[in-house]
Amino acid sequence: MENTYFDSFSDPDIAGPLAEKLKSITLRSPLTFMHVCGTHEHSIARAGIRSFLPEKLRLVAGPGCPVCVCPARDIDLAIEASKRVGVIVATFGDMFRVPSTRTSLEEMKAEGRDVRIVYSPIDAVRIARENPGREVVFMAVGFETTAAPIAASLADDPPGNFSIITSLRLIPPAMKVLLDKGSIEGFILPGHVSTIIGRESYLFMESGYCVPGVITGFETVDILRAIHELIKEAIGGPPFNVVNLYKRAVSEEGNKKAREMISGLFEEVDSKWRGIGTIPGSGLKLLKKYEHLDAVTRLDLQPEDESVDVFPGCICHKVILGESEPAECPLFGEKCTPRRPQGPCMVSSEGTCRARYQYRTVVR
Ligand code: SF4
Repeated sequence: MENTYFDSFSDPDIAGPLAEKLKSITLRSPLTFMHVCGTHEHSIARAGIRSFLPEKLRLVAGPGCPVCVCPARDIDLAIEASKRVGVIVATFGDMFRVPSTRTSLEEMKAEGRDVRIVYSPIDAVRIARENPGREVVFMAVGFETTAAPIAASLADDPPGNFSIITSLRLIPPAMKVLLDKGSIEGFILPGHVSTIIGRESYLFMESGYCVPGVITGFETVDILRAIHELIKEAIGGPPFNVVNLYKRAVSEEGNKKAREMISGLFEEVDSKWRGIGTIPGSGLKLLKKYEHLDAVTRLDLQPEDESVDVFPGCICHKVILGESEPAECPLFGEKCTPRRPQGPCMVSSEGTCRARYQYRTVVR
């Protein structure tokens, strides 16, 4: 069969020379680039891209896994909901096993609570329609990409027994916190999130921070091209640009309809990120007129204990900020594995520790 345009992004005959060229680059001074996308980390680890980086170039993973940055308190709330008689808790699969303050939704299910894995908010609404005599609480976790379909489901007149625990987060405010630290010289910008928010949402990097960024896809060729582009930008010096190498999916203004849908249901509020703390304007909260869809007020949910985000020995909070590598964690691969995760970064396939563990024989 003939190769298509899309096949070219995973073509080894294109990726190979790009990787070799990358390896041969000599940098005069050290550079640190960051990506903020769990799928990028997965692709980078799978393809062993870090083994082709020039000396003096670090490529670190930032807070790009929504499950990893979901505060323990939000999971505690879902756990509290699951304890209520007759309540069904619906959650995405990668949230199911994330350790919270004392337990996880998986353990609650093992104890006999009705916790169900769904693949989309539509599934959760369907469960509510099929169970009119029971409350259905959907754990709404994700970034802009997930916020859009969740907003669409909520706008589509869900049944009266349906509500959500909102743990939706926005990427640009988190990037500003990282940029304020002054240690990142370039960003690989997240492909999925960018389809919603568009290139224009990152222009603050050019004007306010003077740091380049490249929007790219998830194939090996996409990522290699993005790194080449960032090196070119960084070496070239200011003015820096936000370059869109993912035009096959990302436009200048993003998905206007999805953005309108999100702002029609939610307002931006200061929100806590697990391991990072509270970031101004970085989360979404239901607008007052949709308060009846908020499970926390509706069921008066109050976790019993003070929530704990960082467990003894786990350095997820440093991994999430790109300050430590997973292998620097004494628990990595020993006490902490995907089968027995000790921190959120080892659970989801988007988690940095999980990706590094899964492809540990590839990453050199
Ligand atoms: Fe946390 Fe496990 Fe990662 Fe260590 S290896 S930082 S314990 S998730």
